[in-house]
Order: sequence, then structure tokens, then C-alpha cells
Amino acid sequence: MFSKFLEEAGQKNFRISQVNHAIFRDLVTNFSEITTLSEDLRADLEEKQKFSVLEKTKHVRSKDTEKILFKTDDGKFIESVLMRHKGRKTACISCQIGCPAGCVFCATGKMGIIRNLTAREIYEQVLYWNRILKEEYLEENPEAKWNGKNPPHEARVRNIVFMGMGEPMFNYENVISAIKFLNDDKKFGIGVRHITLSTVGIVPGIEKLLEEGLLVNLAFSLHAATNKLRDELVPMNKTYNLDVLMPILDKYTKKTGRRIFYEYVVLKGKNDRREDAHDLGKLLQHRMAHLNFIPYNVNPECGDDLITPDEPEMRIMQNILLNEYDVPSTIRMTMGDDVDAACGQLANKADRPGNKGKIVSIVEGNFEPACDI
Ligand code: SAH
Ligand code: SF4
Repeated sequence: MFSKFLEEAGQKNFRISQVNHAIFRDLVTNFSEITTLSEDLRADLEEKQKFSVLEKTKHVRSKDTEKILFKTDDGKFIESVLMRHKGRKTACISCQIGCPAGCVFCATGKMGIIRNLTAREIYEQVLYWNRILKEEYLEENPEAKWNGKNPPHEARVRNIVFMGMGEPMFNYENVISAIKFLNDDKKFGIGVRHITLSTVGIVPGIEKLLEEGLLVNLAFSLHAATNKLRDELVPMNKTYNLDVLMPILDKYTKKTGRRIFYEYVVLKGKNDRREDAHDLGKLLQHRMAHLNFIPYNVNPECGDDLITPDEPEMRIMQNILLNEYDVPSTIRMTMGDDVDAACGQLANKADRPGNKGKIVSIVEGNFEPACDI
């Protein structure tokens, strides 16, 4: 973060480690709190370096979900969600402002691509959550002293999902740098098995990830089990269709020994029919797969013909998959509407008044293993 500046200022490695420790472990909120540094050096940092590249502009909470709207240095908005499930904290983070993939049901996609986030803009979202969790912990435990070396597990983000705004594979280098920061034991210390990258299926990106050896969990946004239907819902399918995607996903499973989470936004009358369930079954049987049905969250910008499905239809699909094809699935319930807990929604609102945006489904039940294994 500030390593380069400190190096150039002739600071020794141990000083750089001290700064990193103060920022990532002690979770200081400004340079003047880094008391291990001389006053001169603190003043120099304050004058010449930005402590943050994101500004928290709005923070909304509901029972288990909260969301921050950040403003970037160039006046754009991004958002990040924190989900609390059985005491475990999962941060859903953004990697782009907008997205070029244009999936028909997605508000972020409707924005088009504005720009990629830098690695720092990506991991700083998590840094904010950790600071909030620390503050909360100290408020609840007034006697406790903060131990940055070994922070209490309930007071730190445990899982990361790249399911906010943007397509990680289109911002590959910065996403990987951010993952390395998140994974670094001296910084966030989050294991790769606790990091889930969600992709609409960009073959060169998945290939690079395989070579990288940074084997995070993979979630694949499937949405349709045949190329014909997927072409309609996910324009990227015309570039990387299921015939090329499935073998590369199989390779990923083989290398990690872990199942892939298939995301399926359910649209009434479009992909929630019995035949869709059979297509899904045929595609996923004999694969290490877990399917997440995500009921479509209405986004008026995406048009009137996209409708939220009825629960019984999804249950029928679930039963067909399990009983006839032995494919496990979960229906991800949507919550958090009260806080607009939606990846894509707040940022869209801030940017374009009147735009409702996509509501992210707040993860429930079996989604958890994606971040837990
Ligand atoms: N670009 C990546 C990650 C961000 S999107 C990807 O597509 O996987 C994260 C998730 O939000 C995806 O599974 C996507 O399908 C879902 N999503 C997008 N729009 C939605 C909507 N209107 N309702 C419900 N889920 C939606
Ligand atoms: Fe982009 Fe994902 Fe939205 Fe598709 S669902 S437009 S890939 S952010």
C-alpha cells in the first residue's frame, strides 16, 4: 500500500512491516495513529499519501445485512455488502464500476463498463468492513484490548465473494493482486478456500486462474443449461459457450478437488420450466456441482418481460434435479430489500436518480459452503 513510498523514503523493511501491521491488523483509521513511526514520518505520510482511496458515503444496515456505498477518487460510486450468517462474516465486493457483459437481468450490466477498480479499491472495501467489525467488537467488549496479531475471529471478515459489481475476469490482474493482499498472512490473512470468485464464464480468465495456482472457489453464473437459452440471457455466451466452458470448469474441479457453485437467476416463464430442470440435470449430473437458484430481483430497467418466479416452480425444479439427476441445489432467499442490500442497486441510485437497480440476494442456507470449505 505505502510500501513503495516508504522504500523510496529510505525506510527499512521492518518499518514497512510496522506500517502494514498498523493498517491491516491494528486497523488504524489514520496515519497519526501509527505510533510506532516517528512524528516526522507520520507527518510526511499524511502530507504525501492518501490514507484511503475510497470514501464511505452511505452505510445502511438491517438485521443480518449491511451495505456501504463508497465514492471513488474520481467521483464514481461502488458498493459492498456484509452478510452475517451464524456469526461468520462474508463480504461481497465489487471489482468494476459497471460491467461490459450485459446480462439481460442485471442492473450493473445495464450501466455498461465505466472502469476497472484498482487492486487497492478492491481490497479497501474489506478493510472498511474489518474496521467496522473491530469498532463493534470493542464497543461490545469494553474491557478487551485489540490484538492485531490475532484478532478475534468474530471481529473480522472471514469470507469474500466477488459477487458485487463487475466481472472479475475482465479485471483479472487487479483482482488477482487484490486476492494476494487478502490472502497475505501479514495483511488480511483470508485463506483461498474462503474466497469465491463468481464469473459469467470468461474462458481465458479461468485458464489463467488455473495456471496461477491461486485456487480460490469458483462460482459460475450459468442461468441456462442450453446454448440456445443462454445466448438470450447472457450475451457473453456467444463468445464463450457452454461447449467450451464446461470442459474448463471440469478441469478446475479436477485441480481443486472442490465443487463448483452454479448460479442460476430464475426468470418466470423463461428458465423455470420442467424442461429447464431436465436440461440442468443432464448438464450437471456426474459433475461436482451445487446449483444456487436465485429468484430474479426486479430491476425495472431490464424491462417488463422479466418476472420473479414463484417458489413452487423452483421447488419442482429442485426436486427434479435431486431425484432424477442427483444434483444438489439451494434456493437463495432474497432479503435485505429494506436496506437496498443490492450489489448494483445503491451505486446505480447514486449515479442515476430513479434507477432501482438489481437487488442482490442475500445469501441463505447452503450458499455458505462456497465460502466455508
Ligand atoms: N459478474 C459476475 C459476478 C457479479 S454478478 C457474475 O456474473 O458471476 C453476481 C451475481 O448476481 C450473479 O450470479 C448474477 O447472476 C446475480 N444477479 C445479477 N442480477 C440479478 C438480479 N436482477 N436478480 C438476482 N440476481 C442477480
Ligand atoms: Fe456483469 Fe455479472 Fe451483471 Fe452479467 S451478472 S452483467 S457478468 S455483473
